[in-house]
Amino acid sequence: MDVPIKEAARLLKSSKKAIALTGAGVSTESGIPDFRSQGGLWSRFDPVKYGTLSAFKRNPVEVWKMLAELISIADARPNQGHLIMAEFEQKNIIKGIITQNIDMLHFKGGSKNVIEFHGAISSLTCLGCKTQFPLSALDKKTIPPPCPHCQSLLKPDVVFFDEQIPEEVIEKSRDLMRGVDCLLVAGTSCSVMPASFFPQQVLDQGGTIIELNLEPTLGHRATVVLRAGFSKTMQLLQKEIEDHT
Ligand code: NAD
Ligand code: ZN
Repeated sequence: MDVPIKEAARLLKSSKKAIALTGAGVSTESGIPDFRSQGGLWSRFDPVKYGTLSAFKRNPVEVWKMLAELISIADARPNQGHLIMAEFEQKNIIKGIITQNIDMLHFKGGSKNVIEFHGAISSLTCLGCKTQFPLSALDKKTIPPPCPHCQSLLKPDVVFFDEQIPEEVIEKSRDLMRGVDCLLVAGTSCSVMPASFFPQQVLDQGGTIIELNLEPTLGHRATVVLRAGFSKTMQLLQKEIEDHT
């Protein structure tokens, strides 16, 4: 671990524009299960069956059982890794984050330039009158909760598997990705398109990839591999960068 940490710190410090791409694995230490965790949400609710807009419209009561559990992650707290990620942005070591997570933990951890690629559970939109409501306005006792204005179905502002990423999010990501020469890929299996294309784009731009994951994901495409937990690894990276600046 010692050698890859030194190398990862060197890549981050010597880059002109480093950013992070994060996924569910950065939040498991905050108590939110990723797709693989045993007994987690996704082992009980098949994401293919429950995670589509068409399933939602077909059977809102059933899908809202899953969504009710999903939005309970709104109470989770950022872990040490999220906090260090925010510090890295403040110190200009990274310029921003593209996260696939919907849990708002990067913002709660103090990061500012965060693109929530798959949306977030911070708000819901009525499929009838299109009004957007903050999560706090939700009547959590009734499932599915009705729109306070027109009683239609409310959908959390997250991107379902059969939905497109909103155009403005694609554009913001394109801007942030421009000129990136180092990508810290943390806690993502890189299996959900189109977010899974970002590592290759950075390589095509002549950049480097730091893979931070408990298990192999990017194979030979990773320049440096940090095979350990998120918080612990971020602390080691922080120390290495502090000691050599
Ligand atoms: P994934 O579940 O497919 O992969 C998670 C990856 O993180 C795995 O490769 C795993 O080895 C790794 N990991 C787990 N714990 C780790 C730790 N402590 N340290 C380092 N690595 C760890 O997640 P994904 O790639 O983000 O794709 C899942 C999709 O589901 C995303 O689109 C995301 O929006 C959604 N999702 C979001 C959340 C959330 O908001 N927290 C949780 C589950 C799923
Ligand atoms: Zn409405």
